[in-house]
Amino acid sequence: MSIRKVGVVGAGTMGNGIAHVFALKGFDVVLRDVADEILDRALKTIAKNLDRQIKKGIITEDDKAQTLARIHPTTSLEDLRDVDFVVEAVIENFEVKAEVFRKLDELTRPEVILASNTSSISITRLGRVTQRPERVAGMHFMNPVPVMKLVEVVKGVLTSQETLDTILDLARRLDKEPVVVNDYPGFVANRILMPMINEAIYALMEGVADRDAIDTVMKLGANHPMGPLALADLIGLDVVLFILEVMHRDLGDPKYRPAPLLRNMVAAGLLGRKTGRGFYDYSK
Ligand code: NAD
Repeated sequence: MSIRKVGVVGAGTMGNGIAHVFALKGFDVVLRDVADEILDRALKTIAKNLDRQIKKGIITEDDKAQTLARIHPTTSLEDLRDVDFVVEAVIENFEVKAEVFRKLDELTRPEVILASNTSSISITRLGRVTQRPERVAGMHFMNPVPVMKLVEVVKGVLTSQETLDTILDLARRLDKEPVVVNDYPGFVANRILMPMINEAIYALMEGVADRDAIDTVMKLGANHPMGPLALADLIGLDVVLFILEVMHRDLGDPKYRPAPLLRNMVAAGLLGRKTGRGFYDYSK
């Protein structure tokens, strides 16, 4: 089956980036979220990020206009009925994702692959809520999606080789570098990244050093392009907490327990860039 029309469910930080890269490469995109204002914000973000690519000389004004014209925002999941491929990017919560997968399984043609952008949730479990577990896999983009090259392609226990091959091919058509990983909590990227971010938050909480010192040590000492606290703000502190909770629970190892300071910040609504304040202040 040739893939021309892609459904993206969830238009937040990741969903808008995923819609952006598919539309830029010529795919029609149906972008679904629960409210019009979220979709409006997503389209504004996409337009802004396309402008950034124009400034860098990566794309033209014409590419921007065509990309935006290919994205069809909707609050109705029904509008995904005739898509050829789906990437789900709703919040990192198993029940919410499972409900989306159940509905997509009823709605879309049986041969359509249902991929999840989940950071840590079991692809095998998501596959089991559908009648097509062999066509369920992870397609884990990195943030910011238009910039980052990597896509982790996650093989659930029942995912077929044909499904993996289709996703590998799609990722390459988006100019991404796909890497296949097996279905364990956090896969590879977050299995390694999240304990580092969590440790940085513990170090801050225990007064080992202040925010700027921690981030500077990792930037200059480990050559990371941004420090772990700035990265946590970019990812979203709620997302960081969700992922750590999944890893803590599903791997059963206390080394993954989320830092109490992280819990406090999420409870206070200080979620990072998306709310204007996290470890850093973005209001200005
Ligand atoms: P986000 O909170 O920015 O966006 C989630 C969006 O999903 C929101 O707009 C919300 O309204 C929408 N939503 C919730 N329920 C929905 C439903 N039933 N139908 C349609 N939309 C619904 O979150 P995000 O950071 O974009 O994360 C999305 C997924 O991507 C998560 O699984 C997360 O783990 C994963 N991920 C996040 C990052 C990151 O850096 N933020 C990186 C890689 C993967």
